[in-house]
Amino acid sequence: SPVLMWFRSDLRIHDNTALAAAARQGPVIAVFVRSVAHWHRHGHGANKLDFWQRGVKALSEALAGLNIPLLHRDIDDFQDAPAALLTLAREHGATALHFNHEYPLDEQRRDAAVIDAFTQAGLTARGHHDAVAFAPGELLTGKGDYYGVFTPFAKAWHRQLTLQRLALHDVPAPQPPLALEPDRLPELPALQDPPVGAHWWPAGEEAASDRLERFLRFRARHYAAQRDFPGIRGTSELSPYLALGMLSHRQCLQAVLGENDGRLADGEHGLTSWVNELIWREFYQHVAVGFPRVCRHRPFQAWSEALPWRDDEAGFTAWCEGRTGYPIVDAAMRQLVQTGWMHNRLRMVSAMFLAKHLLIDWRRGEAFFLRHLVDGEFCANNGGWQWAASTGTDAVPYFRIFNPMTQARRFDPEGTFIAEFVPELSKLPARHRHDPPSDIRHRLNYPQPIVDHRVARQRALDTFKSLKND
Ligand code: FAD
Repeated sequence: SPVLMWFRSDLRIHDNTALAAAARQGPVIAVFVRSVAHWHRHGHGANKLDFWQRGVKALSEALAGLNIPLLHRDIDDFQDAPAALLTLAREHGATALHFNHEYPLDEQRRDAAVIDAFTQAGLTARGHHDAVAFAPGELLTGKGDYYGVFTPFAKAWHRQLTLQRLALHDVPAPQPPLALEPDRLPELPALQDPPVGAHWWPAGEEAASDRLERFLRFRARHYAAQRDFPGIRGTSELSPYLALGMLSHRQCLQAVLGENDGRLADGEHGLTSWVNELIWREFYQHVAVGFPRVCRHRPFQAWSEALPWRDDEAGFTAWCEGRTGYPIVDAAMRQLVQTGWMHNRLRMVSAMFLAKHLLIDWRRGEAFFLRHLVDGEFCANNGGWQWAASTGTDAVPYFRIFNPMTQARRFDPEGTFIAEFVPELSKLPARHRHDPPSDIRHRLNYPQPIVDHRVARQRALDTFKSLKND
C-alpha cells in the first residue's frame, strides 16, 4: 500500500530523511498542507509565504520526475491537520505517514496530535530528525540540561559530530507511475502587502544548490574577513533556502568538507566561521525545544520579564520606516522593507537599537522582522532578538550596547551601504554619511537622531541594572 510523505519546511528531494524512509517502505504519495491563516497568526508575511508557495511548485515538479504526485490540502488551523491527513490516508489506502520534525512548540504539538490520530486509527505516523545534525536532547551539558550558551554547545557539537551524521540520503529512484495526478497548487489568497524582491530569491533546490556553489567558488574564502560588511556581498544568502529546507545543513557541511581538506574546524579558510553560523542555526532550534517558554512570547532570562519597556509609538514608527536619524539603522530597516532580507550585522545593530536605545519591547521588533523577512524562521529570529535585547542567551551581559555610529564607521567605512538605502545621503562625502551634521540633515530632509546615543545608552544601562540588582 502507498505511503504518505508530508512536506513542510523540507522542500527538497535530495537528502531528505523522511522522503528516503517513505520511499523504502512503499510507493510514495506526497502531500503539502497549507495553513496560510495559521502562518499569518504566527506572523509570517508576504515575502516568506510567496517564497514558500514558489518552493512548493518547484518541489511538485521535482517529485513529478520521480513519479511521486504532490497533493495539496488547505486548512485554516494546525488543529485541522490530523483530520486532513487521516482523510487523505483513507482515500488512498495509505497505512503510514512520514515527516521531518519542526521544532517550535506549536509545530511539535500539531505533529503529536497527528501521530495520536494515526495511532488511534491503527495507522502509523513517524517523525524524523532531519533539519539539524543533533536532534534536540542529543547534545546536553554535563548536568544533563539543554545548553543555554552557544560556545559550549558549539564545542560539544564539534566533539560529537561523526561523518555518519552528515551522510547524505539518496534521492529515491523513480517509482512506477501511480494512477494519481498531482494537484494544481491554488494561488495564495491575496496578501496584505505584495511580496518584494521575489526576483532575487528564485525558489527550489536547484536555485539553492547553484547559490551554494557560487558561494563556495567566489565568497567562502573571504567569508571570515568580509561577512560583517553589509556593503560587500560576502555571505552566502542561503538563509531562505535553509529555512524552508530547499537545501539541507548536511549538503552545506559536506560542501565544506570537500573544500576544507575534510575538516569542519581549524581550516585556513573562512569556512570554519561559516560552519559556526550553521551551528548557531542549530543552537537556536535546540533552545526552542529545551526552553519552550521562548515559544510562548516569554524571555529566555526569567529576570528580564519585568523590564519596563517603553510605550513609544513615534519611536517604533520611526524605526520601522527607517527614519531614526541613525543612518546605518535606517539603511538596515529600509533594506528589510524594500528587499525582504537584512544583513546579519545590521540585524544585530537595528534590533539592539530598538531594544536598548529606544527600550521598546523586543517582541514588537521580532514581529516586524518576521512580517518582512523572506527567511523568517521562528528559532533564529527569536534567538537573534533575545540576544540583541539581552533577554536571551548572550553570554555577555546587558551592558553590550552597540554604538550605531561606530558600527557604521567600522562596517560600512565608505558609507556605500548607507548611500544605497538612504539615497538622500548618497551625495555626501563618505565622512558625513555615518552622522551628517545637523544643518545638512535639515537641508536634505533627513531626521535628526531621535535619541542621543549617550543618553539612551545610560537609560538602558540604568533600567537593566535596577532589575539585575533587585
Ligand atoms: P551566512 O552568514 O552565509 O550563514 C549561513 C547560514 O547560517 C544562514 O543562511 C543561516 O541559516 C545560518 N545563520 C547564520 N547566522 C545565524 C544566526 N545568528 N542565527 C541562526 N542562524 C544563523 N536567520 C534566519 O534564517 N531567519 C530569521 O528569521 C533570522 N532572524 C534574525 C533576527 C535577528 C535580530 C538576528 C540578529 C539574526 C537573525 N537571523 C535569522 C540570523 C542571521 O542574521 C541570518 O541567518 C543571516 O543574516 C542570513 O544570511 P546568510 O544566509 O547570508 O548567512
